[in-house]
Amino acid sequence: MKLHEYQAKEVLARFGVPVPRGRVARTPDEAEAIAKELGGRVVVKAQAHTGARGKAGGVKLAADPAEAKAHAANIIGMTLVTHQTGPQGLPVSSVLVEEAIDIEREIYLSVAIDNSPGMPVIIASAQGGMDIEEVAANTPDAIHKTWIDPACGFQPFQGRQLAFAVGLDGEHLNPASTLIGNLAKSFLDSDGSIVEINPLVVTKDGRLLAADAKFSIDESAEFRQQALAEQRDRSQEAEKELEAHDAGIQNYIKLDGNIGCLVNGAGLAMATLDAIKFAGGDAANFLDIGTANNPEAVVSALKIIGSDPDVKAVLINIFGGLARTDIIAEGAVQAINQGLVKQPVVVRLAGTNVEIGKQVLDDAGLDLGRADGFAEAARMAVEAAQNAKNAQNTQ
Ligand code: GDP
Ligand code: MN
Repeated sequence: MKLHEYQAKEVLARFGVPVPRGRVARTPDEAEAIAKELGGRVVVKAQAHTGARGKAGGVKLAADPAEAKAHAANIIGMTLVTHQTGPQGLPVSSVLVEEAIDIEREIYLSVAIDNSPGMPVIIASAQGGMDIEEVAANTPDAIHKTWIDPACGFQPFQGRQLAFAVGLDGEHLNPASTLIGNLAKSFLDSDGSIVEINPLVVTKDGRLLAADAKFSIDESAEFRQQALAEQRDRSQEAEKELEAHDAGIQNYIKLDGNIGCLVNGAGLAMATLDAIKFAGGDAANFLDIGTANNPEAVVSALKIIGSDPDVKAVLINIFGGLARTDIIAEGAVQAINQGLVKQPVVVRLAGTNVEIGKQVLDDAGLDLGRADGFAEAARMAVEAAQNAKNAQNTQ
C-alpha cells in the first residue's frame, strides 16, 4: 500500500527526518493560504502515486501566493500521466504546498527489502534527483548499499559509512548519519516495503532536507499499522485490485490478457501464466487464493475474475496441499450457479481430496472443461478464449 508524498513526509518527520515546511491543499484557495503562511515562495506538487511528476508538469515553483493558487488550480483535477502510470494516468485531487528550497546538491536515499539475503537494504547515491534505475544501469559504482541484519539491527557506523560514500562529510556527517538511522527506523517501525527520498537535498544554507518522499507499507502488516492503513487513497488504485483487497485476497494483479486465472500458491500461479503463454494465450490476471479452505473466498475471487470484461475464459488450476480441492470445487460450483462467471471455465484439480473434488464437479452437472494435466488445461483455456473472441467478432 502506497502513501502520498505528504503522508510519507508526516511519517518521516515523526521519526526525525527533516522535511520542508508545508501542508496539503485540496483547493486553490487553500494552496494560496498555505503559501502565505510559508512566506510566499513555494513549490506546488501534485499528490499522486507516481514518481517523475516533475517532468509531467506536476511540480511547479511559485514566486508568490497568487502564483501558487494558479498552479494549484491547474494541477488539482488533472490526470497525471508519467512513464510509471501508463497512458490512463492517475487522478490528482490535492497538492502539497511547501517552502521552496534553494538546492545545492541532490542525493538519493532509500530503504527496501532485499529478498536474496532476506534483509532490509539501505541504498544511497550521490546522483540524486534522477531515475535510480538509470543510475544503476549506467554507473553501478555510484550506488552504495548497506544491509540491516535483523539479529543486531541498524548500527550507527553504517549511517556514517553511507554518508561518507555519497560525499556527506565534514559538517554534514553527523546530521546525515542520524538522518539515515532515523530513516531506517521509520521503515522498520512502519513495516515498510520501500521508503525512498529522491532527492535528499543539501540546501544552499547547508541544511539536509527530504525534498521528495515515497513510502509503501507491506500489506500483510496492515493489521498492525491501522493509522497508516486508514490513509489509503483508493482513487489511486486499480478497481479490481481494490475489490480483491477488500475480499481479503492479497495476491491479485490485473494483467492485459484474456484468460482469468484462479490458482493457489504464488509459484503455481507463475507457472500457470507460463503455461498459458506457452499454449499461445495471455492471462488476464495473477491470482493466488492461498490456502483458501472456505468456498466463500473462492466465490469472491471468481466474482472478481468473472466481472472483468477482458476475461474470455477462466482457468482454475489447483494443486491441493493444505488447500482442499473439494472445497475449492464447491466454491467454483457456487460461483457459476450464482451467475458470477458466464465465461467458459476449465478446471484442473490435483492433490488433497481430488477424488471428492472431481465428484463435486461431476454432481454439479455444469458444462465445464476438465483436464488432469497442467499443459492440457492451459491449452483448453486458450482455445476457449479464442473461440469466445471469434464468436464475438462474428456477431
Ligand atoms: P518527482 O518528479 O515525482 O520525483 O518529484 P520531486 O519532488 O522529486 O521533484 C522533482 C524535482 O523538482 C526535484 O528533483 C528537484 O530538482 C525539483 N524540486 C522539488 N522541490 C523543489 C524546491 O523546493 N525547490 C527547487 N529549486 N526545486 C525543487
Ligand atoms: Mn523525486
